[in-house]
Amino acid sequence: MRSKDRPRYVLTVDHLRGLFDELSDQGYEQVGPIFRDGAIMLEKINSFDELTLGYLEQQDKGSYNLDQHPDAGYFQYSVGPQSFKKFLNPPRRKLWEANGSSSNFEITVPERPAKMVFWGVRNCDIEAIRILDKVFLEGAYVNDWYQAAKEDLLIIAVGCTHPSKNCFCTSFDSGPMPYEGYDLSLVEVKDGAGHHFIADGKSDLIKHWLNDTEAQLASKDDLEIASRTIEEAIDNMPIRLNPKEASELLKTNLEHSHWEQVASRCLSCANCTLVCPTCFCSTTEDITDISGDHTERWLTWDSCFVGDFSYIHGGQIRPSTRSRYRQWMTHKLSNWYDQFGSSGCVGCGRCITWCPVGIDITEELAAINDNPVGPAKDKKSRGNEKHKGST
Ligand code: SF4
Ligand code: SF4
Repeated sequence: MRSKDRPRYVLTVDHLRGLFDELSDQGYEQVGPIFRDGAIMLEKINSFDELTLGYLEQQDKGSYNLDQHPDAGYFQYSVGPQSFKKFLNPPRRKLWEANGSSSNFEITVPERPAKMVFWGVRNCDIEAIRILDKVFLEGAYVNDWYQAAKEDLLIIAVGCTHPSKNCFCTSFDSGPMPYEGYDLSLVEVKDGAGHHFIADGKSDLIKHWLNDTEAQLASKDDLEIASRTIEEAIDNMPIRLNPKEASELLKTNLEHSHWEQVASRCLSCANCTLVCPTCFCSTTEDITDISGDHTERWLTWDSCFVGDFSYIHGGQIRPSTRSRYRQWMTHKLSNWYDQFGSSGCVGCGRCITWCPVGIDITEELAAINDNPVGPAKDKKSRGNEKHKGST
């Protein structure tokens, strides 16, 4: 059944609490947003009531603040520093271990990941998972851990009603409302009339559960409120860029003087790559014990901002911060199309918020667009335009 033909339901907090308990009974590990260390973090949780409730957030270049607010709901912020990639492709995991002696050895691999539920997934992160699918599942080599994690994954998505000042998901033909890639999608409504969720169930498991809840069908008014909430979120996003034109712009501006200017601010700290939901670079390390009868191979996240990342045959390919930042940005916004057929950026804004010196990928693009070295067909519509929004 097409999305627009499916019935929408009105769910209460108790309905969702019931779903959480039912999924726990079915053996799912559940992951959701919780409050920790002054931020909204993603962690495994054992009860629905561990989810964040009552927080509003403010993000800007290099800054992130959360405030408690009695009227705020569960999901009325945009995204925290972490994305769900840390559960699909963990920052550090053992690939295998070998035990034995000089004449014999045995290799064991860790157990496959548990079946998981992700709560509160924004559309930018659904898009990011779609991109990671191309990287890990559709290339020459399949990441079997990622594949196993995806097989039993349930995604409970939420329409993003409070995008941050750094969000620009609408630039990528997706926007704040999930349209596919989820099992259950929710729009949270918390107003004078109460606190509820307009729900769309897509997978069979969720459709059966919805039937069993005997939840009320959403009325025309309910749907209008949900749709207005999302429209307001779109209007509140101040940044727009044209990804296809940005891709062409960067291809012809690899020697632009602005790369030097960004490099003078960039610390090469790699924060932007760690928070980015689509960055996937990794390295492996082998650990052996002194007896020589035990060895382990571990996979860990790596970053193109790290000097050793480009070390090959006795030297670094990208020894300067200028070359590393240019590599990162041109890969995200340009070369990714050649490699994977889409942008490598989903407009989540994390790299802008969590850059300690407030470097903004969209502003760096705009600076190149304002004074391009390469051919400029239509300077007005190319690359980046900042639209005034209400935030
Ligand atoms: S490049 Fe920045 S805005 Fe784009 S997906 Fe990565 S973290 Fe988000
Ligand atoms: S752009 Fe910002 S977050 Fe990324 S490496 Fe440079 S200083 Fe760190």
